[in-house]
Amino acid sequence: MRGFLSQSPSPEPIFLFRKLVSKKFPMSNTFTLAFVLKCCSILPAFEEGKQVHKHVIASGEMQKGGVEPDEVTMVSVISACAMTGALGLGKWLHTFIGKKGIKNDLEVRFAIHGLAKEALETFAKMEEAKVEPNHVTLIGVLSACAHGGLVVEGRKYWSTMLESGIEPSMEHYGCMVDLFCRANQIEEAYEFVKSMPIAPNPAIWRTMLVSCKKNKMFDKGEIVADHLLQLEPLNAENYILLSSLYASGSHWVKMSIVRRQMKERGIKAVPGCSSIEINGHVHEFVMGNWSHPEAKDIRGIIWEVSERVQSVGHEPWIASVLQNVGDGEKQDALWEHSERLAIAYGLLKTKAPVIIRVVKNLRVCVDCHEVTKTISKLYDREIIVRDRIRFHKFVDGRTIGELNLGGAFNTYGE
Ligand SMILES: [Zn+2]
Repeated sequence: MRGFLSQSPSPEPIFLFRKLVSKKFPMSNTFTLAFVLKCCSILPAFEEGKQVHKHVIASGEMQKGGVEPDEVTMVSVISACAMTGALGLGKWLHTFIGKKGIKNDLEVRFAIHGLAKEALETFAKMEEAKVEPNHVTLIGVLSACAHGGLVVEGRKYWSTMLESGIEPSMEHYGCMVDLFCRANQIEEAYEFVKSMPIAPNPAIWRTMLVSCKKNKMFDKGEIVADHLLQLEPLNAENYILLSSLYASGSHWVKMSIVRRQMKERGIKAVPGCSSIEINGHVHEFVMGNWSHPEAKDIRGIIWEVSERVQSVGHEPWIASVLQNVGDGEKQDALWEHSERLAIAYGLLKTKAPVIIRVVKNLRVCVDCHEVTKTISKLYDREIIVRDRIRFHKFVDGRTIGELNLGGAFNTYGE
């Protein structure tokens, strides 16, 4: 199983696991369970995750017989629940196990989901119970503040952390930069970065670049991009971000210079790729690629959806398309983004109340985010898209993030 997974994320370990179960191999091996759960969290194999989860519950039953599932297994279960958006299950486990390390893990997951309030409430309970926060807990708390747009609280926890003698790590600094950036306080973020006693990593600079793009701060964006490209001159994502910064301001000449640099340095962009699991099979969609055997039907659905979405007044976010072409063509390109193909396939193959779950390798762009929101309302479907950074859960024309937190979704980029 490990051999399969080391190649690339593949469903093979899950197939092997099925074989093991069907052959009635003993299921008490927590290592195997943890490993399969890891596969499930990488792949969009939610149904499979639930099956494994049942086995873990069964091993909970074993607990009564004196065999206790270990912490590694439990953390994997929580990860799998969080990664597949099954937070309900995750919460259930939270009450099931009162171990400190696991609480920390769950708190980090809560933050990923944008459920800042719950993470902070958990933290308050920990404080009441006089459980000393460690550096992991504080990452959870700071990132919860960032996702919740709670700048004042974030600053407060930051001071508390310094006072209690915990030395901030790169992750903590990253959370603070994210906190400022999400609140559109770019100057504060920049000052904070400049004051760091350790050299900021590429992720921190990237967070800033995304925010500069969102706030159309071109000069600051160029300074930030300069730092980023010095650190990571071979990462395509950095060039794409810079080029999308220019695209958002229609600076086509500068954009083409970035594109040329990429070409000269032999850097290829990773194409957007989304996958969806239908009846136990994982279907992959690449942006603008129509090689799927049911492409004709998918095209039909895409056409219908685009008509309906436009008829309720959706204005396409043209700057999401990184090409200097006419607006009509740009809109067509948006409808070929991989997550839309995957969602269309989900609409084609499943019916409510089945949740459409899509996993994407890159970040979801701002237009796909808006369109998915509209689709969830028009088709009365719950849609969950997991991109490289976080979860987006769409229900009845809204997202969980927007329900709880104002303006938390600001990290876009195709
Ligand atoms: Zn998109």
